[in-house]
Amino acid sequence: MKCTILSIGDELVLGQTVDTNSAWMSEQLAAVGCAVRAHMTVPDDQAEIEAAIREAAAKSRFLIVSGGIGPTEDDLTRQALAAVMHAPLEENTVWMNQLESFFKARGREMPPINRIQAMIPRGARMIFNTAGTAAGIDVDIAVEGAVGARVFVVPGVPKEMKIMFARDVLPVVREIGGGAVILSRTLHTFGLGESSIAEMLGPLMKRDRNPSVGTTVANGIVSLRVNARHPSKDAAAAAMEQTVAECRTPLGDLIFGADDQSLPQIVGQLLEADPLARQHRPSLATAESCTGGLLGKMLTDIAGSSNYYREGFITYANESKTELLGVPSEMIAAHGAVSEPVALAMAAGAAKRANTPYALSITGIAGPGGGMPEKPVGTVWIGLAAGGKTSARMFHLAGDREMIRDRAAKMALTILRYHLLGKPMPF
Ligand code: ATP
Ligand code: MG
Repeated sequence: MKCTILSIGDELVLGQTVDTNSAWMSEQLAAVGCAVRAHMTVPDDQAEIEAAIREAAAKSRFLIVSGGIGPTEDDLTRQALAAVMHAPLEENTVWMNQLESFFKARGREMPPINRIQAMIPRGARMIFNTAGTAAGIDVDIAVEGAVGARVFVVPGVPKEMKIMFARDVLPVVREIGGGAVILSRTLHTFGLGESSIAEMLGPLMKRDRNPSVGTTVANGIVSLRVNARHPSKDAAAAAMEQTVAECRTPLGDLIFGADDQSLPQIVGQLLEADPLARQHRPSLATAESCTGGLLGKMLTDIAGSSNYYREGFITYANESKTELLGVPSEMIAAHGAVSEPVALAMAAGAAKRANTPYALSITGIAGPGGGMPEKPVGTVWIGLAAGGKTSARMFHLAGDREMIRDRAAKMALTILRYHLLGKPMPF
């Protein structure tokens, strides 16, 4: 039961408005087992809309069109649909009465241009719009040489679209579509690249597998998307649990969270549960050089982080590392600010001055300048003070300044996460 979603609007193809309608509808359709084969987007141009309707109708059982049913001259979806159907546009009296009373209730005369909003191609059904003036359209259309498609036209205004879609579109698709259910779960990892994760998953990522497992990457987080498609919700849920367990077998603690869980949130939960951290609340301090407070920002993005995060030292200049954290200036002179001893001293100094059992430190070269043959751009030392012991590790992070800083902060969170789990880092 394939479906195409067609979005219409100049503002969409110009990139001025993000097409959130398609994303939302896709999620809803997936939940009733309807596979969306394509998202199409065309401008407010009748020829383009007609061509898109023809193409989509030939390739899918359902076509959902959003936008272009307003009262103005650039709203051409009705005209395009009528042209594809070789049918005239006819006034729908029920909706025309509705429109007239809508304007009357507001003490206004209906502007003549609104008449078009009650026009429906002959043979189509009108769909009530309980949140606006544009009626929707529901029609089976024939396409030469193909089965044809059930077409729904809904408003572009997201609020109006959602109401109409949920009430008059989704139930029809669910009924005709056979009622399969698609459940989705996303598992997040950090630290290894997408290809390494894919290699570890092996046959789990086979294209024809159900539940399917696919990977996506965003800001260094490699996520596994698991989709389970089954006739019943229970069967889909059981298959989902089984596949998630199969993914956890090779990846283990590389998976830090699922769905909307974030790395700093998970680290926060671990701190809240950690016996040492619980004796000294708040229990964590940070000392940042090249990340300039990004780690503190990530930690404090989480509501409730004051339970475990005490303070951050942004020690960008060497003198600040000495003054605020007590890093000996001779040490910086001898080893450089980006070095193991300095990372260790920063972490120890932050823990001491903040009086916390845990502290993370970051010192590195984010670039683009400042690299040296022995310390190229991307060289980052991350230190951890934990219960009076300090350790540090060097990373060579790839990417531009923004990426290096982002990955450094996430790596620091990851180091703390593994420490709190009581496990060695697997990379
Ligand atoms: P309608 O058919 O409901 O009258 P329209 O396309 O005729 O819609 P517009 O004035 O073009 O009306 O759009 C209404 C609002 O909805 C605009 O803010 C527009 O950016 C937004 N919109 C239209 N399509 C989408 C979409 N696919 N995703 C998100 N917003 C959208
Ligand atoms: Mg529009």
